Amino acid sequence: MPEHAHRLPTDTDDGMVLIISGPSGAGKTTITRGVERGIPGSVFSVSATTRQRTDADVEGVDYRFVTDDDFETMKSRGEFLETAGVYGKKYGTPKAWVLEQIKRGRLVILEIDVQGAISVKQQIPDAYAIYILPPSESSLLERLRSRKRESEEIIQRRYEQGRAEIEQARTCGIYNAFIVNDVLEDSIRKAIELVNDERSRRRQGRHA
Ligand code: 5GP
Repeated sequence: MPEHAHRLPTDTDDGMVLIISGPSGAGKTTITRGVERGIPGSVFSVSATTRQRTDADVEGVDYRFVTDDDFETMKSRGEFLETAGVYGKKYGTPKAWVLEQIKRGRLVILEIDVQGAISVKQQIPDAYAIYILPPSESSLLERLRSRKRESEEIIQRRYEQGRAEIEQARTCGIYNAFIVNDVLEDSIRKAIELVNDERSRRRQGRHA
C-alpha cells in the first residue's frame, strides 16, 4: 500500500526524533523519562536487547528482552532502524514503530548510545540530539557505585567506556546540545526547553 494511504486526519508534520545519549550513571534515563512526562504527545522508543533484565527493568517498558537468536532474526528481517553492541550485548531500535510515530506527529524519544545516534542521524538527518554529561568524571564513578546495580569490575568497565564515549560525543559533531546534569530537575527543564524551542522553530519554518 502506498505510504500516503496511511495518513490519518490526526497526523501532523510536527513529528521529530529526539536522541538522548550519555554515559551510564549520568542520569540519562531519569532525564529521558522526565522529558517524556513533560512533553505531551511524546513517546519513548522501547529497544530490543540481548542483555540480562535487572530488577530495575520492566519488560516492554524499558526494553524488549530477547534472545540472541530472536535478535538476529529481527535484524535479518530489517526490523531495526539501527543496532549497536554495547558492553558486549546487542541493542536495536524498532524501525517501523519509530517511522509510524514520526508520521503521527509525535516526538519520538530514543535513548541510545553514540554509535546508534550517528547511524540514526545518517538516516534521519533532522533528528535532534542531546548528550547528557556528568558534572565531573569523579561524579560519574560515584553515581555508578551508588546505583549498587553492578559489580565493581563492571562499574570500572562502564566508567572507562563512559569516558571514551564522552570524548566521541564531543568530537563526532552530531549532538545539537550538551547538558551537564548537575541538578536533575534543572536538566529535565533544560532538555524540555531545548526541544520545545526546536519544534516551534521548525513549525515557524514550515509556515514561513
Ligand atoms: P543499559 O544496558 O544501561 O540500559 O544501556 C546501555 C547503553 O545502551 C546505554 O548507553 C543506552 O543508551 C544504549 N542503548 C539502549 N538501547 C539502545 C538501542 O536501541 N540502540 C543503541 N545504539 N543504543 C542503545
